[in-house]
Amino acid sequence: MEQKKLGFGLMRLPLKDSRDQTSVDMEQLKKMVDAFLENGFTYFDTAYMYHDGVSETAIGEALAPRHPRDSFTLATKMPLMIIRTEADQERIFKEQLVKCKVDHFDYYMAHNVCNLFYPIAQKLKTFEFMQRMKDEGKIRKIGFSFHDDAELLEKVLNDHPEVDFVQLQINYVDWDSAAIQSHKCYDIAVKHGKEVIVMEPVKGGMLAKVPADVSKIFREYEPGLSDVSWAIRFAASHDGVGIVLSGMSEIDQLMDNMSYMKDFEPMNDKEKDVALRAASIINGTIAIPCTNCRYCVKSCPRDVAIPEYFSLYNTDVLANPAGFSIQSAYYLNLTKVHGKASDCIACGNCENECPQHIKIIDMLKDVVERFESNPPF
Ligand code: SF4
Ligand code: SF4
Repeated sequence: MEQKKLGFGLMRLPLKDSRDQTSVDMEQLKKMVDAFLENGFTYFDTAYMYHDGVSETAIGEALAPRHPRDSFTLATKMPLMIIRTEADQERIFKEQLVKCKVDHFDYYMAHNVCNLFYPIAQKLKTFEFMQRMKDEGKIRKIGFSFHDDAELLEKVLNDHPEVDFVQLQINYVDWDSAAIQSHKCYDIAVKHGKEVIVMEPVKGGMLAKVPADVSKIFREYEPGLSDVSWAIRFAASHDGVGIVLSGMSEIDQLMDNMSYMKDFEPMNDKEKDVALRAASIINGTIAIPCTNCRYCVKSCPRDVAIPEYFSLYNTDVLANPAGFSIQSAYYLNLTKVHGKASDCIACGNCENECPQHIKIIDMLKDVVERFESNPPF
């Protein structure tokens, strides 16, 4: 089966109620899944943790009972952040097969390998477990998703040469980032001969809403292409990249992504230069590099809506409204049902979870300064 390079990321599914991550709109999802497959795309990426555990159940309903098993490729992940024993791994893996209604996964990975969770994977022998499942025919390819620096990636790949692939955060904004190290990590994965699966090519949606001067540069080069296409095509244009995941929550996003990825041609050097020029402009404007992965929110004892507040903050900084700020109004609304940024007690739980290594406690102080010192009403 030929594999096209666009993968359907299942961490931002269409919802019936935007405040409830479990309220997946199944009719919409089924339509999107069907359209994706009809256009020759095959790869779906879910995880135990996505949508509070509902992503696997939702794709289990939308995919396997409705399409032949050999017509799709399904990936999911072992949640290193919650397993405590080797028995947890066995239990969760069995649960995942049942939820997804399949007898094997095509790609299976240790979720969020980083300095915090790699010791857990080592202690619980997660890689050995995945290898055993592969030997038993319940997994086709094993790997890990990675959120740390190039030095740790080198170590993990030296420790575990048996892995088939690595899932990395690659986008044109993070390509030369000191924190994310996309380029360095990509080079190491290629050096070790691993297939690269790309996550966060649009940086949590940030590169779908680029500043006007960046959008103008893109339009001048190629008027018919969307801003988001530059992000996805950039990630897909590197040798060794097998799949670029895009978290799609609307059918229009899906149709746009498929339009330029159906007969994908890698970017030429001039296009890559345009993307990297865009990166330097955007990097000068983003205040907080939050990707909305939501790993931080569950561990917060004060229910602070961290990613929502950071998103509002970034937009407000970019928009820099002179008077009334709509972001400020949204902030006030959110604080009715969540803890305020000023409710943070600096326990540090969230910072331990953040794959982007954001200084969340400090950043929340900036949020307080921006939104709580001048309420909109
Ligand atoms: S440091 Fe603040 S925002 Fe982070 S988990 Fe603790 S209370 Fe919540
Ligand atoms: S602050 Fe960090 S962990 Fe929380 S949503 Fe943003 S990137 Fe994810």
